[in-house]
Amino acid sequence: RKFNFCAGPAALPQPVLEQAQRELLDWRGLGCSVMEVSHRSPEFVAVAERAEQDLRDLLRVPSNYKVLFLQGGATGQFSAVPWNLFGVGSKKADFIHTGHWAAKAIKETRRYGEAQIVASSEDRNFSYAPAADSWKPSRDAAYLHYTSNETIGGVEFDYVPEVDCPLVVDMSSTILSQPIAVEKFGVIYAGAQKNIGPSGIAVALVREDLLDRAMDNIPRSLSWKVAADAGSMDNTPPTFAWYLSGLVFQWLKTQGGVEAMEKQADIKSKMLYGFLDSSSFFSSPVEKGSRSRMNVPFVLADADLDKKFLEESEAAGLLSLKGHRSVGGMRASLYNAVPLEAVEALVVFMADFEARWG
Ligand code: PLP
Repeated sequence: RKFNFCAGPAALPQPVLEQAQRELLDWRGLGCSVMEVSHRSPEFVAVAERAEQDLRDLLRVPSNYKVLFLQGGATGQFSAVPWNLFGVGSKKADFIHTGHWAAKAIKETRRYGEAQIVASSEDRNFSYAPAADSWKPSRDAAYLHYTSNETIGGVEFDYVPEVDCPLVVDMSSTILSQPIAVEKFGVIYAGAQKNIGPSGIAVALVREDLLDRAMDNIPRSLSWKVAADAGSMDNTPPTFAWYLSGLVFQWLKTQGGVEAMEKQADIKSKMLYGFLDSSSFFSSPVEKGSRSRMNVPFVLADADLDKKFLEESEAAGLLSLKGHRSVGGMRASLYNAVPLEAVEALVVFMADFEARWG
């Protein structure tokens, strides 16, 4: 297998894929695959319960939070958040605007209420996360929403905002890459296809007191309360994605959990940023204090060489280094399943490319 730097759906841990392969045709001696059993069978319910418990253990989720396995991706949660939180009192939400994904959440929220931008990094092309002391929340928001890591921009917060209202975070591209203080948040949500598992499932951790704030007529499939009451099985869940996510959680535990992942992320990202900063050909467009440890965008001094860079890197076994179509350039995503050797190989390749073309 090749080194895969895709931003999502992203690389999965090799042992997880091997186990899934071994179990594919005959799961647990049932004579069929996990995809072919009822989600209400005792065997699958055990998978679901174990996945929840492992995720709770990994993130030290307090007992007053529901752990929900949902459909519709993180985009579904852009809609679910206002639907679930605008029903009691204020229909205004505060937002920290940091780029592409924050913009999507803001746009969706405006269909149901007001999105007040209390901090933004638009002035410098979304190349940083607004500092904690540079902004203030409003007084009338039902919640404050931010994006802990802009997957496209490569901008990561190095702090958790302090607010009086419930704090809602899109953690799609940082969840499980570091320990988090779950109790500081009202809602944490994430699409799975980076550090959790395959696409098709999303995770939300919701503080229980926020389950009763939904707007009337909330679509049933977006209701956290309905999902919580039904153990995330109000309708047929994406069982294969759920099972694979569970295998990823078990793998994470054997690797030393999120503490070990944070150390790895530090080592991997420092190696790549160190190279970028020492290079006169490659550079990072992100300001130093906000550089993401998961997604590292970079540009070549001569954009005419982008195509050659991609062709050669692909041929060298380094997959998916193309930046998002909205910003161009390159991006290397360094999620948990990307080994240190992948980053070492990338840096060697880039140094060689620079020597030949720079
Ligand atoms: N939020 C962030 C930070 C993302 O990176 C993504 C996808 O990459 C999304 C939201 C949208 O996720 P989904 O495709 O699961 O709807």
